[in-house]
Amino acid sequence: MTSTAATVRTIGHWIDGAEHAPEGTRTSPVYNPASGEVTANLALADEATIEQAIASAQRGYEVWSGYSIAKRQNVLFAFRELLNARKDELAALITAEHGKVLSDAMGEILRGQEVVELACGFAHLTKGEFSENASTGIDVYSLKQPLGVVGIISPFNFPAMVPMWFFPIAIAAGNAVVLKPSEKDPSAAVWMAQLWQEAGLPDGVFTVLQGDKLAVDGLLEDPRVQAVSFVGSTPIAQYIYETAARNGKRVQALGGAKNHMLVLPDADLDLVADQAVNAGYGAAGERCMAISVVLAVEPVADELIEKIAERIGRLRVGDGAADAEPDMGPLITGVHRDKVASYVDLAEADGARIVVDGRGYEVPGCEGGFFFGPTLIDDLPTSSRAYQDEIFGPVLQVIRIGSFAEGVELINSGRFGNGTSIFTNDGGAARRFQHEVQVGMIGINVPIPVPVAYHSFGGWKQSLFGDAKAYGVHGFDFFTREKAITSRWIDPARRGHGDHAGINL
Ligand code: NAD
Repeated sequence: MTSTAATVRTIGHWIDGAEHAPEGTRTSPVYNPASGEVTANLALADEATIEQAIASAQRGYEVWSGYSIAKRQNVLFAFRELLNARKDELAALITAEHGKVLSDAMGEILRGQEVVELACGFAHLTKGEFSENASTGIDVYSLKQPLGVVGIISPFNFPAMVPMWFFPIAIAAGNAVVLKPSEKDPSAAVWMAQLWQEAGLPDGVFTVLQGDKLAVDGLLEDPRVQAVSFVGSTPIAQYIYETAARNGKRVQALGGAKNHMLVLPDADLDLVADQAVNAGYGAAGERCMAISVVLAVEPVADELIEKIAERIGRLRVGDGAADAEPDMGPLITGVHRDKVASYVDLAEADGARIVVDGRGYEVPGCEGGFFFGPTLIDDLPTSSRAYQDEIFGPVLQVIRIGSFAEGVELINSGRFGNGTSIFTNDGGAARRFQHEVQVGMIGINVPIPVPVAYHSFGGWKQSLFGDAKAYGVHGFDFFTREKAITSRWIDPARRGHGDHAGINL
């Protein structure tokens, strides 16, 4: 049964070192997607709360940016230790509100923790450069300084990892962060704020502003917010990019994806089938790096479809928090499940063959949950919107093609360019693939090529607006600005000799 609004707790903002849920504000329901029950109501920021959050962050910035590198390092290392010791708590929160299975929730925390670990080495990555005697008696050097208050706006699908792509680096570099999490799974953000406080971060340096478009627009319009990092769907990414840029802010806006796996006839089809199932159905396909299209170069399609279908038959779908962990949990909401189903309807109407149909999937004991079974589609015309759009669910499409070149052309003709992969034993083909595809992240016999923390994450085309990727060196560049100083000091030996310039020595 769905709980009523009156019986559930309210999740608030985190402002000035405390949770804060003003009386009488608008709220939005938070669900447990496995049961369909409302488990909390989220306080949505109004103008007064937005002002309070940004003002507190500005004060936090003024304190934190004065901390020495050594003192900042102590806080970063303490945060890393606390996160590592208590990540089980965070994983349980993620599963309860997002629905992904616990091992997936743990996986996203570990990928986020990698960025925390990178940020612990910020002293090296934020130090400037020095050129002695660039001209006679003149030295030139650079300083990297923080920006001030920076906003992070994150999607529902990685409530811990995506904020961690940005905030460890932003904070390490001396900025104050206002995080606006997805309203669908907001608790991870508050948990991480409490952890920062335990780690010794001054109040105001990490703020959580819960909300919807009003909170996002508040961050985009406020002149105290110097930069915005966004991850979410493409239409909103474009809106964020344009609005933030118009308001003179630094902005990186990562959007949606439709990732293809190109399978050449020489590939090991058992390996391909295993990887396609993991990359297509893991986290119920709600990953921006999920594989959603398999391009099978004939004659392998029939055999590959059979192998994938056989593996789908062994997948267990259920409550991600169950003791016997399933392979796949529910989708985030009932509305999203219905949208995914409508794309399968569309594919069918456009002439596709539904090899495995996940519509109407029921999990015994979880009848109210937002489940959608793994779905496999063959013979989908590429003119169908079901091929062209991002579906963001456990739906894998196989497209039969005649050649490597046809595959590259299809990949390059799409509007997204987040990730792609090739499966082959031919090194020359793989090398040509990496050179020719118009995509930001490429896997060679690796289905989900998410770069490690010391490289940077980002796609091309409508998968990334802006020129800075997330984390790695790009992250440090994004969250600092540089000053170049040209300096001349008079040699003490010249003082008092009337030669103040100290030049021509
Ligand atoms: P979304 O675009 O609906 O929401 C993202 C954020 O924007 C949320 O915080 C939301 O509150 C806010 N938002 C939503 N509508 C808004 C509006 N009209 N104005 C201002 N702000 C608004 O995305 P989502 O459904 O939470 O996440 C799924 C999407 O994110 C998918 O498209 C996925 O591909 C993408 N994603 C991309 C990456 C990447 O690295 N490129 C990573 C993760 C997710």
